[in-house]
Amino acid sequence: VFDPREVLLNAQPPHPVLTEVRVAGQPVRALPADAAGPRLDAAAPYARELVLPPGARQASFGFSLLGARRERQSIEFRIEGLHDWMPVAADTLTSHASLPAGDFRLLVRAADRASRARSEQPLLSIRVLPYWWERREVQWGGLLLLACSVFFAYRKRLRVLHQRERRLSELVAARTREIEQQKAELALANRQLYELSIRDGLTGVFNRRHALDEARRRLLAESAQPLCLAMIDLDHFKAVNDRFGHVAGDEVLRSFANWLKAQTGPGDIVGRYGGEEFLCLLQDQDIVQARHWAERLLAHVRDTDIAGPSCEIRITASIGLVAIDPRAALPLEVWIARADAGLYRAKANGRDGVLVG
Ligand code: GH3
Ligand code: MG
Ligand code: MG
Repeated sequence: VFDPREVLLNAQPPHPVLTEVRVAGQPVRALPADAAGPRLDAAAPYARELVLPPGARQASFGFSLLGARRERQSIEFRIEGLHDWMPVAADTLTSHASLPAGDFRLLVRAADRASRARSEQPLLSIRVLPYWWERREVQWGGLLLLACSVFFAYRKRLRVLHQRERRLSELVAARTREIEQQKAELALANRQLYELSIRDGLTGVFNRRHALDEARRRLLAESAQPLCLAMIDLDHFKAVNDRFGHVAGDEVLRSFANWLKAQTGPGDIVGRYGGEEFLCLLQDQDIVQARHWAERLLAHVRDTDIAGPSCEIRITASIGLVAIDPRAALPLEVWIARADAGLYRAKANGRDGVLVG
């Protein structure tokens, strides 16, 4: 049986409608735009826009179909930008657990299984208002604040590090100065110690050990230049001590050593051999020149007063001389013995004179 109404009915597309909107379980009604809480710009099912304030994001939607043949028709809905088409039974509520902040469109489509007629339409625009911290400007501001604090923290850290580095380098510089100073003091102390170790404490000329070491070195080093060795002994020095005392005797030894130093050059070696005996290695003088040198020295000693504690003291000295031939490669002791022989003869000769050994 052909029923033309059937054709008409079949030709009509299904007509889905929004019957209910609930937010957090409460039905939403149309409210003035400035009212707080969820609102629709018109009462369902004619609503066009749903506005959800922050904190009210659980929304449920109810759909229905108008017209006949509802049992042959199916409904699907979709929140554009959030999920794909989802089937829903007519006259039931479908709920959305939590909507994110943003703008969405609620779309619905229905299909008639018999006629294959379909319809699709937007039902509602949904605006979910963001929490304050979800607002773009707040997020950018927060990001900016974070970047600024990172930047300032970095700068502060850098400043602290620079300060620490400066303090450290100052400390290192101070410590280096201290070490340099200690090094200089140590070098000076070493120099003083060395001087003490090579000098005679009473007279300041080289002590016996150093004078002999130096003389031996000179003997080995010298080959062409003439060298002369003088052994000098103060005459009757025991009598000086006996007569004027040992303090005066010491003063005599000091004065004599000073004269000796004054009469020699920087290349000559002057040492206290022992007691009132001195050794002198003269460089660049042959035996004739050395003899004149010795006579001048004796004349000076003979003619000069030495200031004693209570009176002036006069002394004389005797000198034994020897010309050293470095090429003979004889040990120093041989030359000392020869000079000593001259000295012995000078003493035997009545003292206050020079004799070549
Ligand atoms: P000669 O003319 O024969 O050399 O007679 P001399 O008296 O000088 O010789 P002697 O060896 O008999 O005496 C040396 C004296 O020198 C004895 C010693 O007391 C004295 N003498 C040695 N060293 C020192 C010193 O450091 N200080 C003083 N004051 N006297 C010293
Ligand atoms: Mg003597
Ligand atoms: Mg003597």
